[in-house]
Amino acid sequence: MFAIGIDIGGTKIAIGIVDLQGEIKAKVKIATDKTKDPNDVLVEIKQQTEKLMESEQTSWQAILGVGIGAPGPINKKKGIIACPPNLPKWRNIEVAAFFEKAWNVPIHFENDATAATLAEGRFGAAQGHSNYIFVTISTGIGAGLYANGQLISGAFGNAGDVGHIVLDQSKGTCVCGQKGCFESLASGTAIARRATERLGRDLDAKEVFALYDEGHEEMTALIQETFEYIGIGLVTLINMFEPEKIVIGGGVSLVGEPLFSAVQQYVSKYALSPFGRKTKIVPAGLQQDAGIVGAASLVLNERS
Ligand SMILES: [Zn+2]
Repeated sequence: MFAIGIDIGGTKIAIGIVDLQGEIKAKVKIATDKTKDPNDVLVEIKQQTEKLMESEQTSWQAILGVGIGAPGPINKKKGIIACPPNLPKWRNIEVAAFFEKAWNVPIHFENDATAATLAEGRFGAAQGHSNYIFVTISTGIGAGLYANGQLISGAFGNAGDVGHIVLDQSKGTCVCGQKGCFESLASGTAIARRATERLGRDLDAKEVFALYDEGHEEMTALIQETFEYIGIGLVTLINMFEPEKIVIGGGVSLVGEPLFSAVQQYVSKYALSPFGRKTKIVPAGLQQDAGIVGAASLVLNERS
């Protein structure tokens, strides 16, 4: 038996047929054309999925369900992509209803960070834990919350938008309108912006980390500051949810050891409870195709 995972993202849409062990049997990726009518994109996703099924000679009888990971904000109750900032044309698009009409299998719909959280619990770095948080740090910052053995997705599926916890109101304005949000200080986009401001030339996050690796003084200071911001964000989460583990994924986490040791140290100093100070901060277990496996996990989660 298999699940289909569909990950709708701002730059690409990934579709995969996934088995019950989380292994991808086949996958296809298409670039997200932001100029296209979202309803036409849904038709394209449908066609690509059916093509993939055909080329793999997989019958719909072998499909337990389809999981869809979508960029938030969503309305989970109605299966709607509501108003993602990076997909400006996608306003109140009825995604779940479209696929329910197209295919005679159960459709599961969640925001992408929530889907990735389930995948880390089932197949990745949070296996065996009933209290953990998944934090993704890439162009933005998001999270999924798993507490007391249950996913916390909120009334409409948008719980875990931790990127908009305010860390320092004296800093610049965030996309959400507040000042000094976690995301506006520590995401990949923020790292690039802060470095560009300091050095007076255009840099992306990768270049900033390369300079940091070379021991560039100003960029080392900037990255250390960033690690501290991440530490502050995680301490807030630890104090609120008391997870056993925090799993960090996303592009910025690929810097690896320096980030994890700095953040672990911050947590060991500042989390309020002695248990919280011991919270393990670890890299995501699923990096490649985490979106597809995450979406497919929505189906598998319903079965257990
Ligand atoms: Zn914000």
